[in-house]
Amino acid sequence: MAADLTVIGAGLAGTEAAWQAARLGVRVDLYEMRPQRMTPAHQSDHLAELVCSNSLRGGGLHNAVGLLKEELRRCDSLFMATADRHAVPAGGALAVDREGFANSITKSIEEHPLISLQRGEVTEIPSGPVIIASGPLTSDRLAAEIARLTGAQHLYFYDAIAPIVETDSIDYKKVYAASRYGKGGADYLNCPFTEGEYHAFVAALCSGDKVQPHDFEKVIHFEGCMPIEEMAERGPLTLAFGPMKPVGLPDPKTGRTPFAVVQLRQENRHASLHNLVGFQTKLTYGEQQRIFRTIPGLEQARFARLGSMHRNTFINAPACLTPNLQLKSAQHIFFAGQITGVEGYVESAACGFLAGLFAGWQVTGTELSRPPATTALGALLDFLSTAPEKGFQPMNVTYGLFPPLDKRLRKRRERREALAERALVDLASWQANLPLQIT
Ligand SMILES: Cc1cc2nc3c(=O)[nH]c(=O)nc-3n(C[C@H](O)[C@H](O)[C@H](O)COP(=O)(O)OP(=O)(O)OC[C@H]3O[C@@H](n4cnc5c(N)ncnc54)[C@H](O)[C@@H]3O)c2cc1C
Repeated sequence: MAADLTVIGAGLAGTEAAWQAARLGVRVDLYEMRPQRMTPAHQSDHLAELVCSNSLRGGGLHNAVGLLKEELRRCDSLFMATADRHAVPAGGALAVDREGFANSITKSIEEHPLISLQRGEVTEIPSGPVIIASGPLTSDRLAAEIARLTGAQHLYFYDAIAPIVETDSIDYKKVYAASRYGKGGADYLNCPFTEGEYHAFVAALCSGDKVQPHDFEKVIHFEGCMPIEEMAERGPLTLAFGPMKPVGLPDPKTGRTPFAVVQLRQENRHASLHNLVGFQTKLTYGEQQRIFRTIPGLEQARFARLGSMHRNTFINAPACLTPNLQLKSAQHIFFAGQITGVEGYVESAACGFLAGLFAGWQVTGTELSRPPATTALGALLDFLSTAPEKGFQPMNVTYGLFPPLDKRLRKRRERREALAERALVDLASWQANLPLQIT
């Protein structure tokens, strides 16, 4: 019998999407190219293979990824139920037995009466309803098809992620708001360096420990997304004439132009996050925290995301997708998982959950309903449609993406508890009002 929906890629997002659509009574063809064609990172023919760590990160609700997992649990996600069944001891984190986890998801999919698993590489996008969930290592021929659909300028093959800090951890006594030569308003926060501070910072960047890339990731280095520490290694003043250039940025407190600046750019609609402009890096996470906290104004910074550079196929979601994960120019085509610009195992599965529901509702002629932006699921979705298109880079779920609370709470722990409580209440009312109840 012909399928109602095709899902391309049976990784974390694709298996969850197929499962959710099938719960709505939709017949799904789920395509997976492995083992005929392997990616450079996958090792097996299992569906939902975890390519690297076996950790699904923090468990508690003080952590936004913990809340995202709890929401998935409450929405009967296959990914979460399977992860919980295959949990192994990992302190406060949730880690899984990777073999048991992937075997179990594979079995659940293979045995589902409405899902037909097809092994083979998809090289053309089918004409009917489809979810593209082919992941960060999408095969070349499918990537070429996606570029044709989205426009090549909106498909990227590497991420170059700069760290993001929580805005309320920035020291406003030291930083100042200004745009270069006053153009476009005071859109950037500037962290001013003296000459001595600058040279100490460059020396720390040059001697910091770096992450060694996988073999298939060694091709990256084109100008424009060069790691900050490699630029620093080119010469003592390279950064002062590059991303740390201070010209046109006098400090209004002194009227003088500092020796160098690090610019921080607003990352999200609520201005609760700022990224370090041009600071994509391969320094280890520990070194980033140590070195970037020497930047004047960031001594107490809390990092919502640390920098990295990876092979990663992803589209510019705010430019290409509707808020329901559909391609703007062809709304029967949905995207799910890491290829949309979410980052991480749990986020990819969560995105698959949403795409499965949305595509399932579209196929069954039901109105689409998005979870509120106050939930972790909704905040992630909201990020994909409202993040600035310029410089769009993948993102983990973080409390910085959530709309602020109505009341001001001084303690971070209390704030997070209140955000989690609000999220779970709002999730329940979203579920209670769904247009078509999941069976
Ligand atoms: C090397 C690497 C390491 C990572 N490590 C971590 C980590 O430790 N922790 C973490 O949270 N996140 C990690 N990530 C990021 C991300 O969370 C994972 O890649 C995650 O698996 C993404 O889920 P997905 O479903 O979007 O893609 P995937 O899980 O990769 O699934 C996509 C599937 O599509 C298939 N496919 C691709 N092209 C085609 C085609 N043309 N036809 C049919 N099938 C196709 C692939 O074989 C694959 O099975 C890592 C990413 C990479 C690349």
